[in-house]
Amino acid sequence: MAFTKSEWETIDAIVFDAVGTLIEPFPSVAETYAQTALRQGVVLASGDVKTRFHAHFRNDEWDEIRGPMATDEAIEVRRWRRIVANVLPEVPDLDRAFDELWLHFGQPQGWRCFPEVATVLQSLTDVGRTVCIASNFDARLRGVAAGLPPLAKLTGDLVISSEVGFRKPHPAFYRAACEHLGLAGARVLWVGDDVENDVAGPIRAGLRGLWLDRHGRGDSRLPQIRDLTELLTAV
Ligand SMILES: [Mg+2]
Repeated sequence: MAFTKSEWETIDAIVFDAVGTLIEPFPSVAETYAQTALRQGVVLASGDVKTRFHAHFRNDEWDEIRGPMATDEAIEVRRWRRIVANVLPEVPDLDRAFDELWLHFGQPQGWRCFPEVATVLQSLTDVGRTVCIASNFDARLRGVAAGLPPLAKLTGDLVISSEVGFRKPHPAFYRAACEHLGLAGARVLWVGDDVENDVAGPIRAGLRGLWLDRHGRGDSRLPQIRDLTELLTAV
């Protein structure tokens, strides 16, 4: 386990990343994009779609005034429209493909919680820890979380980058999460599947960070767990 029992005593709240940590798209992003293309008569292998998606997903917009990692709902819509255009350049009606995908990923039916999530969130709450979700998803996450039973109780504890104004790993985003919790960063543990956004970023901002390495990629320099149930071994 990444933390000793005495270290756990200094943690009042655990902030979870959403996608890849608590929830995952189901069916997969690649399958969903391929199905969307197929409805317009375009046949694409989901492996090719997956490669394109990974190539374009991190292609963020740079706000000339506010600098890198600034965001809002309009920026997110533009970003996703760009991603859809880059991943599905063959579809004749891009607007239709974008609208379908935007709607799909904004509904709880497009997502599922990882199997251990309900038990882990409940157990942490039972031992007096505050739990919160902080995500680079946009405001659609509110509807998604409300429709997934393990997350439905946390809809008042969602910190979303498009609402804060900055994406992870901008320090302002972690500060916003601490303000939401009313806690100093040193009392907050951030847990997520992205090394930069969920471990290095929080640590730079004065929080604690723990890497969820679901795929066993391994990095001995980082505090890490393979599964969220490992959070329960020390609390
Ligand atoms: Mg993630």
